[in-house]
This record gives sequence, structure tokens and C-alpha cells, in this order.
Amino acid sequence: MKMKKSELKPYKETLLALRSRLRGDVSTLADAALIKSSSGMGGSVSAVPSHIADIGSDTFELDNTLLLMSNEGETLEQVELALERIEEGVYGSCMECGKAIPKLRLNAIPYTPYCVKCASQIEAGEV
Ligand SMILES: [Zn+2]
Repeated sequence: MKMKKSELKPYKETLLALRSRLRGDVSTLADAALIKSSSGMGGSVSAVPSHIADIGSDTFELDNTLLLMSNEGETLEQVELALERIEEGVYGSCMECGKAIPKLRLNAIPYTPYCVKCASQIEAGEV
């Protein structure tokens, strides 16, 4: 199942923003401070400014997920690969089973190459 260009756009933008963030070429002080304090504090939730928590649980969870997965070098690589998949028109399909990755999952982890099922199998070392 191929995603439309208009559907891909928000993901591409998120990935591009994430890439700049991971590369460290973001000049926004708040953003830099957020990353710095979070990784320095071992991803402690208390390091997240309260205004983020106020926006709503979805946004909060998204940020938290990204920060929790902040093995930054590896994440950057995943982001690059996801951008390549967008260019190739295969973004949004699981690299393992070929099924469409639910949008809910893409919203949470926009660079994931796998659906939930395959990702958990891979994490468990079953693949
Ligand atoms: Zn899969």
C-alpha cells in the first residue's frame, strides 16, 4: 500500500526536523536545552518543561518516546533510512512483512521501518 504524497509530507517534515535535531544543527535554544537536559538526566520526565505536558498527552508521549529512544547515532541512521524510503515511495510499509505500518505507530516513531509485530519480534531476537 503506497502512501500519497500529501500523506507523506507531514512525516517527511517531522523526519527532516528530527534529523536536524539529532545532527545538532538546530539553533533553537529551547530545543537544544530540552535534548541536553533530557539525555543528561537519563531521560527523566521531570526534565521535560511543563508546558509540553500541558499540550496534551499525545504530544507528550511522542516527545517522550523519541527521547527514550535517544541512542542518537542509531536514531539518526533510522531517520536517514526513513527519508530514503520516502524518496523510494516505500515509506509506511513494514520492511519485514511488507504490511502497512499503522499511522498511529508512524506518528509515534516516524522513522520506524517495522510494524509493531515485527519490531517486537526483532527486539526479542526472534528474527
Ligand atoms: Zn511487519
